[in-house]
Amino acid sequence: VQDRLNLLKQNTHNTVNTLLDTLALELAAKVDAKIANGETIGLLEGIPFGIKDVYMVQGTTTTASSNLLKNYKSAYTATAIQKLLDAGAIPLVKENCDSFGHGSSSENTIFGAVKNAINPDLVGGGSSGGSAVNVAKNYTVFSIGGDTGGSVRQPAGYNNIYGLKPTYGRISRYGLMAYASSTDCVGPLAKSIEDVRIVLNIMSGKDVKDQTTYASAEINEASILNTEGIKTIGYFKNFIDNDAIDAQVKLDFLASIEKIKAKGIEVKALDFFESNTLVSTYYTLAMAETASNLSRLDGTNYGNRIESGSLKETYSVTRSENFSEETKRRIVGGNQVLSQGFSDAIYLKGLALRDQISANFENDFNEVDIILSPVTPSTPPKIGDSLKDPHAMYLSDAYTVGFSLGQLPTLTIPQGTATGLQISAAKNNDELVLKFANFLK
Ligand code: GLN
Repeated sequence: VQDRLNLLKQNTHNTVNTLLDTLALELAAKVDAKIANGETIGLLEGIPFGIKDVYMVQGTTTTASSNLLKNYKSAYTATAIQKLLDAGAIPLVKENCDSFGHGSSSENTIFGAVKNAINPDLVGGGSSGGSAVNVAKNYTVFSIGGDTGGSVRQPAGYNNIYGLKPTYGRISRYGLMAYASSTDCVGPLAKSIEDVRIVLNIMSGKDVKDQTTYASAEINEASILNTEGIKTIGYFKNFIDNDAIDAQVKLDFLASIEKIKAKGIEVKALDFFESNTLVSTYYTLAMAETASNLSRLDGTNYGNRIESGSLKETYSVTRSENFSEETKRRIVGGNQVLSQGFSDAIYLKGLALRDQISANFENDFNEVDIILSPVTPSTPPKIGDSLKDPHAMYLSDAYTVGFSLGQLPTLTIPQGTATGLQISAAKNNDELVLKFANFLK
């Protein structure tokens, strides 16, 4: 723990928002004392981990990488994090990310752009960039990110590690700062399938504080080692045959498909919605939900209040001065699609499209067990480039957002393509996703 804290203190890749050194050393000393006493310790006891800075951990600062919450102290601890603490894992750091999860590069942050673990001139990916880079650099054994439209899977791909977005509702969102509540998921990032499995099991389960959660069976080690249940896989033709995909990403993906065929698995090319439709549907709903979720951040109960004449002006100045350009773009966009005159044409249309996308997935999973995709159409951009063109940044989410709208379990594995391979299965079939990842090893 001490060694890793020393490394994190140097903050070489801008991954650190707050170092939890006092807490970590205190907890580590307790584990040391148990070992010295000859007591047996649990699987996760003493294992150092990182937390994206959007999770409440009582007494620690939770900034969401935003000026608005720069000094905000959590009053309670998120359920998922509490379960890890109860299992004896040791939190080292609150990790840098795109502010409120708004972004795909971890540059939309007051703590400086997160640098990629493989090539520091490139972005760390987002929004859980700090979490992915800390795992890739071995600063943490695992980290807990948040995935609304790809934020665990995409940075995992950009940094060559594993990142899981579980089925929506498998892990409680209580204490995860809400971005878009209908797709927000708690997700682990780690260096092995085994670590993902262990951490997933601990965090999963019904929670009375999040009514969208459900009880799920533990995924045991043996069950992901056998390959039963995997006969047919599919991929979306239009994700591979288009002008936007990077040549290397395409080549690598097709090579993976050939390898899978050689293992005796049937492969089907499937039809799917256009990238533009997926991205517009996701951003319509995500912006609407975030406009609503962030409305409480007006400097009254939370945040860096800037007194400015009347109450209304105080709200306005507090929000205008403290939110980033990207966050303001989403609040304005979200309020627009929800407002009278626009909601029927845009927001309700988005909801209808989402139903169609979900129905499409249901049909597909009657035909195939797994759907594969590259994580992104291209490799990580240079730091500074994505900020110049928000629309291009949204389009880079084309391959992740559909699975979020479908609320499906989807895992990035660090092989297959230059940006990782995404493995997805039907709802609640997280076990099959891990099984298939293992099968491909
Ligand atoms: N890049 C996507 C967005 O900005 C996804 C982010 C996320 O999953 N938090 O909405």
